[in-house]
Amino acid sequence: MRWSFSAARAFRQCQRSWFFKNCLASAVAKDRQRRTAYLLSKLQSVSGWRGRLVDRILSERLVLALRRGQRITKADLRTAAKVCFERELDFAINNRIHEPALELSKNDAVAAFRAIEYGHGIRQEEIAQAWQDIQTAIDNVFKMDGLRAALKRASYVVAQRSLQFKFAGVSVVAVPDVIAFNEKAPPLIVDWKVHSFGTRDYRLQLALYALSLSRCTPHRDFPPVLTEFTPTDYRLVEAQLLSGIEHEYALDSADFDELEDYVAASATEMLAATDGLKNGDLRAEDFAVTAWPNVCQRCAYQKICWEKADEAA
Ligand code: SF4
Repeated sequence: MRWSFSAARAFRQCQRSWFFKNCLASAVAKDRQRRTAYLLSKLQSVSGWRGRLVDRILSERLVLALRRGQRITKADLRTAAKVCFERELDFAINNRIHEPALELSKNDAVAAFRAIEYGHGIRQEEIAQAWQDIQTAIDNVFKMDGLRAALKRASYVVAQRSLQFKFAGVSVVAVPDVIAFNEKAPPLIVDWKVHSFGTRDYRLQLALYALSLSRCTPHRDFPPVLTEFTPTDYRLVEAQLLSGIEHEYALDSADFDELEDYVAASATEMLAATDGLKNGDLRAEDFAVTAWPNVCQRCAYQKICWEKADEAA
């Protein structure tokens, strides 16, 4: 079983929604329900979409340019972002994920909005705000001189790499936005955040990135310098791209003990819920629905969840 921070949060909010995403959804299954769950798993809010678009532009353009030692300007990033924004918006507004002949894995402009799928529509102001936020995020990256200098100084930089290790009976998966390796200094891990709401503490999430980097089977291109440092040595930076605030976390062994306790407790709950059964043997009815009805109003799986409830009635 795969465990991630987002899966743990989803499980605590609604076990049934977690089941739909993590056990039922399948990109390749012929079964109608599994395919539907997969398509619904693509739904997101406009603000979630614009955040992921920023992550992708920074990973694919900024980090790539840094790795190659190429110059990249704010205007370059804005232009690249605008192209993605227009293409994906068109795809999402026309709800194209349901086109039968479309191979989602081969299409690089896939986006889908929950509000469109469920007939609520998207307001022009939301779209305008999303584009404004993307521009602000790009502008602020170019104001983070210290962070960009650290990325430029690095001996090797990678973006969006999946790191996995076994712990507490599950495969823990983490995907840091950026890892910058240095020949004689600990690695730097950067987490881009595109949030307009308050200040949440991402200490445990950053700790997970550090622990995953230290324990995973390294990707082939990772430099062999990691064994010289422990996760408490790593530099961990949360970069808030809408406010322009950078927060560097200094973690000690107690933070990593807390993280391990959190992962172990969450993994134990998930393993108990699935009771050792394979995905194909699990049923939606075996998983508890949320205790907070307002969670249903934002849930991508409302359609199949409530269909199940109607069948049972
Ligand atoms: S509609 Fe509500 S109960 Fe059903 S999966 Fe979604 S959040 Fe859970």
